Amino acid sequence: MADRRLLMIPGPIEFEPDVLATLGERTRSHLDPTFIEAFGRGLERTRQVFLASKDSQPFVIAGSGTLAMDMAVANVIEPGDSAVVVETGWFSQRMAEILTRWGAVVTSVAAPPGEAPSVASVREAVAKVKPKVVTITHVDTSTGVRADVEAYAKIAREHDSLSIVDGVCSVGGEVLRMEEWGVDLALTGSQKALGVPPGLAVLVAGPRAMAAYKARKSKLASLYLDFGEWLPVMEAYEARKPYYFATPAVNLVAAYDVSLGKLLAEGMDARFARHAKMAGAFRAAWKAMELRTVPVTEDLCANTLSAVYFPQGVDTTLPGKIGAEGIVVAGGLYPSIKAQYFRVGHMGSIHANDVLATVGAVERALGKAGYKGSGLAAAAAAL
Ligand code: PMP
Repeated sequence: MADRRLLMIPGPIEFEPDVLATLGERTRSHLDPTFIEAFGRGLERTRQVFLASKDSQPFVIAGSGTLAMDMAVANVIEPGDSAVVVETGWFSQRMAEILTRWGAVVTSVAAPPGEAPSVASVREAVAKVKPKVVTITHVDTSTGVRADVEAYAKIAREHDSLSIVDGVCSVGGEVLRMEEWGVDLALTGSQKALGVPPGLAVLVAGPRAMAAYKARKSKLASLYLDFGEWLPVMEAYEARKPYYFATPAVNLVAAYDVSLGKLLAEGMDARFARHAKMAGAFRAAWKAMELRTVPVTEDLCANTLSAVYFPQGVDTTLPGKIGAEGIVVAGGLYPSIKAQYFRVGHMGSIHANDVLATVGAVERALGKAGYKGSGLAAAAAAL
């Protein structure tokens, strides 16, 4: 029988057949009117998915989530600018590294793995540093911690700093309201809750972020990352006109438009609620199995993935054993606790059957390791 293993890692995820079919279509010219329509519509849909204001600027570029992080930072930071990083895991640390490479002076407000820095400690740092940017990792995929973007972005706004949100593991699954929350720039990659195979970097820059770009004194050191090079492209396609700077990833962009159409047909609020419900069922299962999550409290637990400590006597061979039971999950990532936990992605098209199949596989794998606990009934009850 064909490989029926279910991909339940925190990205890439299982993709919808019509999205994948679009990828397999004959490649059109990037100047073909039907492609111009798909790209233009995809950009319009991006604003709706990010719940961003009409005057915000979407960018959809070939690259992964890390390219989106690099692009966000490169365009608003000039050497010597200051930045405050709200650190909730390894991906926040990556943001600090990117900021440093672009010449920013970085102050990180950290918390132990599984925790998020308090709003008060971030407020104190921002008040002291008065940074140009505050960066927030919405869901840090290394720890499974979800940050309170609304609260942190508010602090940035109060001190006239720009808020940059790494939404790679959140956009399309976790509630993110760019306009309402005053987020200045949010970014993601295509391969997680947006439901498109890896390869697209997606950013939405609000008017304050674009103004900061326009007020730069120095020219960007990178051509490919420069908002100024891409702005006429994005504006032209939205106006249903051709424009060339660098070849767009034609098939991926077409698949992106199809996937975003599906997200919006479901409705963002319905989608957020479904993710919350599926995540709740996973949490009920972990609890019933007496497995401890890396996030120390329930409201720090993301709805897009679970990071779960191995029980006593179980080691890093567990993800492989769960794989043998038909479900592909991920190992740990945060360096100091890497060998102590595993991660399960639950975003995108995730439904009740996926939750039950995954919990069942975890249970079977643990059962073979002599561990007796049952989460299936608890997950089923929560669904
Ligand atoms: N930020 C977060 C929160 C992520 O989860 C990831 C990917 N796991 C990235 C950034 C980097 O994205 P990519 O792997 O697509 O470069």
